[in-house]
Amino acid sequence: MLRVKYLSEMEKIEYLNLWIGFKRAVEGRTMVWEKLDECWKEVFRQSWESYKNGTIPVGAVILNEKNEIVSKGRNVGYDSKCNHILAGTAMGHAEMLALMQLKKEEHPNIEKYKLFVSLEPCPMCFGSIMMTGIKDVFFAATDGTAGSSVLQDITEYIESRGVRVTKESGDMEVVQIVLQTSRGKFTPVRKSIETWEGEHRGVVSFGNKLHDENYFKIAIDNNIDISEIYNGILKRYYSESLQNAYSNVASI
Ligand SMILES: [Zn+2]
Repeated sequence: MLRVKYLSEMEKIEYLNLWIGFKRAVEGRTMVWEKLDECWKEVFRQSWESYKNGTIPVGAVILNEKNEIVSKGRNVGYDSKCNHILAGTAMGHAEMLALMQLKKEEHPNIEKYKLFVSLEPCPMCFGSIMMTGIKDVFFAATDGTAGSSVLQDITEYIESRGVRVTKESGDMEVVQIVLQTSRGKFTPVRKSIETWEGEHRGVVSFGNKLHDENYFKIAIDNNIDISEIYNGILKRYYSESLQNAYSNVASI
């Protein structure tokens, strides 16, 4: 292990993170999907549904104060077959579809609800979440272009609404970036990919690799469940990245 000392501090951290991810995804007794909370499983089911329908893979779920799922939505921005009123519009975002199902009279406790989404909310969705009164928002992947967590305290009014936006674990972000990278033909996704090229370069190239292999097309043709796809992405991502990192260390 003497060779490890030639790694930079950043490389050491990256190597360690990959190793921890590998242990979790490949050697764990329970697969990573099975460890997700039910709301996150539903978020990724929605995201995969969008992918299958040819649009940007993003899913959203809203829980009430008893932690029951009261609403869910998926991106329909490029879904030509969907007959939802927002399908094919710039407003067809997962959060919008989930939020517009909640009538005020039927949800008097909406201020205690939580929203979960696979991609950081854009300004439109952040604004809509804020106006409904929902205060807790959790997302899986950062969006370096449209992501609007920074709006939380931009004006006195917005700050007074008390929306808290929190980023969740790295595994979910890996899966979301891989799925979205495979939909790089859409301009907004391409812009997000550019921002991921920095911190998540390895994830983006892995996403491109799976896309070139027709990994997702084969999954759709064979009706593979998102639980298997989720576990499969992480298992391959961590084992291949670790292998690459190891060969870099070994070649020093
Ligand atoms: Zn949005």
